[in-house]
Amino acid sequence: MAALNNGSSEFDRFPFPAWVEDARTGEVVARNQCAKAAGRLTHCAVKGSRLRRFPLPAIPAPGALVVMEPYPGDPGCGMEELRNRIHEALARHEPLHTVLHQLAQGSEDALPGVRVLVFQLVDGVLRAHSGAHPGDGLVAALDGLAPGGPAAAPWWPLRGEIVRLGQSGGWAPFLLVAHAAGIGQCWSDLLVTAAGEVVGTLTLFLPADASALEGRCRKLEELKHLAALALEQHHLLEELYFLAQRDTLTGVWNRTQACRLLGQVLAGASIPPAVVCLELTGFHRVHAILGSGIGDELLREAANRLRSSLNPADHLARIGADDFVVILPDVAGEAEAVQVAAHLQARLSALYEIGGHSIQISATAGISFGDLLEGQPDLALRQARMAMESAQQSAPGSLECFNPAMQSKSRERMILEDLLRNALPHGELFLHYQPQFCLRTGALAGCEALMRWRQPHVGLVSPATFIPLAEEIGLILPFGEWGLEEACRQSRLWFHSGHAIRIGVNVSPYQFQTGDLVRQVEATLASTGLPPDLLELEITESAILNDLDAAIAQMCEIQRLGVTFALDDFGTGQSSLAWLRDLPVQRLKIDRRFLQEMDSGPRTPILHSIISLAHELHLTVIIEGIETEDQFQHVQALGCDEVQGFLRGKPTDAERFANLYLAPAAVINYS
Ligand code: C2E
Ligand code: MG
Ligand code: MG
Repeated sequence: MAALNNGSSEFDRFPFPAWVEDARTGEVVARNQCAKAAGRLTHCAVKGSRLRRFPLPAIPAPGALVVMEPYPGDPGCGMEELRNRIHEALARHEPLHTVLHQLAQGSEDALPGVRVLVFQLVDGVLRAHSGAHPGDGLVAALDGLAPGGPAAAPWWPLRGEIVRLGQSGGWAPFLLVAHAAGIGQCWSDLLVTAAGEVVGTLTLFLPADASALEGRCRKLEELKHLAALALEQHHLLEELYFLAQRDTLTGVWNRTQACRLLGQVLAGASIPPAVVCLELTGFHRVHAILGSGIGDELLREAANRLRSSLNPADHLARIGADDFVVILPDVAGEAEAVQVAAHLQARLSALYEIGGHSIQISATAGISFGDLLEGQPDLALRQARMAMESAQQSAPGSLECFNPAMQSKSRERMILEDLLRNALPHGELFLHYQPQFCLRTGALAGCEALMRWRQPHVGLVSPATFIPLAEEIGLILPFGEWGLEEACRQSRLWFHSGHAIRIGVNVSPYQFQTGDLVRQVEATLASTGLPPDLLELEITESAILNDLDAAIAQMCEIQRLGVTFALDDFGTGQSSLAWLRDLPVQRLKIDRRFLQEMDSGPRTPILHSIISLAHELHLTVIIEGIETEDQFQHVQALGCDEVQGFLRGKPTDAERFANLYLAPAAVINYS
């Protein structure tokens, strides 16, 4: 590059404003002073587009602000300018290849006679970014090699040393191309971020006889620092970009991006795209029982199954803990969308083998169709979700298409959910107590505490509505803790007044599976002072079936405290008598649905054998839901031990319960 020897005469020929900036000092130099600085100037660049550099005296565009750069041979020269230029480029978020190109080019200017390549470590290979000579074969030959291999990266791990190519075995495959590029030596060092992560290498190539790096240590350090900074920032931006669009766990799109993509699809579509919302029914239990590690793995596997079942034009996103959304831009109509969704459901419902566990879940689906006129991608997503919730309520694992009637149902549910969140803090929960009687003596045998919720505006809400909702949104844990405490406190009051009443407290599977129940029961007994043998926990089969061994271990611990267990709702689930033998339960509660079916006759022998077997296992049998005298006589004849039902006593508040059943004459003769 030609040096500007006669500044004033060269500058006179430039049609740009009559002042320039000295890049080294940052000073604006007046035109007539340029000559003084000119001895150190080699070329100029148009500010704001530093890539366009002109050997002086090329003519920049009229009106351009010209920056003069010092000789590269000057100690430290060019570095400040280069640093500023790279920082500016980074601040402007210029593309990485542009920044590294500038850096390599600036480095070549600062180290005359040296070729500079910055290698970026991407997915295990080194991507080459070059400076001024991208055209020759060197870059192409070295681009995309893996670090560490014998031939792949000859500069690695020879860090910070000059290597003569002919003497390094690793260079053998590249000697020809290196010689053609006039290169005989190489220097390389790792680029390391502030956090210590290797992100690439800075590699310098020199002619065979050059010793151009002598005394350049500071410069090399600075170049390495700049290159590492550029790569680090690029990496961070990529990560931010990823986070802004992707679900980090599964790598599929996130909700925001799903909306954006659906918006794009809606804008360019001629037929309405279908939106399928899929919920992994049963995922929460897997998560609760087997832990978050297995839960996360399950979600990743589910995402992979969906991904591999979709067309390239389809979009897949995760929009909630266990909710996926699939956008199908090309389905012909409802029938085809239903077919695709059913296929996805089947894929998600196939058995999972994770961490030594065989896991079976199902998928519930809802489908909506985006409205081309209205656009509104989030509305389409919401409608698909409403359809999915409606399917979930009617039959988990089923599929429904959106219809406008769902809108009001879903809104109701959302309102109820909000109200339920306030139930405990606003003191709207309370307990009712239902008596249980001994069939042999007619005496009060105990009671069951049943949770009630009275919302001031809605009124009394059925447990069949609010308990499953509380389980779904995680409120069952505080509710359960409160219920246990309140029931024990009440039973302790009755005990204090001379009535040792066994109290049954329902325990949700979720409470049981969090693993905290032992501590909770222990603490509640301690704080209320209730004798442990007056407390009975009612659990259902579903609470223990998933991990029987862990459940039994937990039950045994609770039992050691003196607390007993009843197996609730027997006859509605899998009702295996085989494992009853292994369960530390004292009481079997036969569900009232069993009783209703028994009215029609054929179940009587089964009930009889259940009662006999339970007795053999030393279990007490109680039948729930006795409403008629006939039923009563029937179960008495079958040898049942206890009854609970509206016939002899409905659930009621503590005061009424005490008046009705705890009076001295509370023994009723049933014989
Ligand atoms: P469950 O534990 O099986 O409770 C017995 C249910 O049967 C109660 O319904 C009770 O009112 C009802 N019942 C008793 N006798 C009769 C009868 O003769 N006829 C009819 N038709 N029903 C009868 P409730 O109070 O509506 O509770 C429903 C379910 O909600 C309970 O079934 C239990 O699973 C759950 N639940 C209630 N309280 C709690 C609680 O504190 N915690 C948890 N986790 N679940 C609770
Ligand atoms: Mg119960
Ligand atoms: Mg029950």
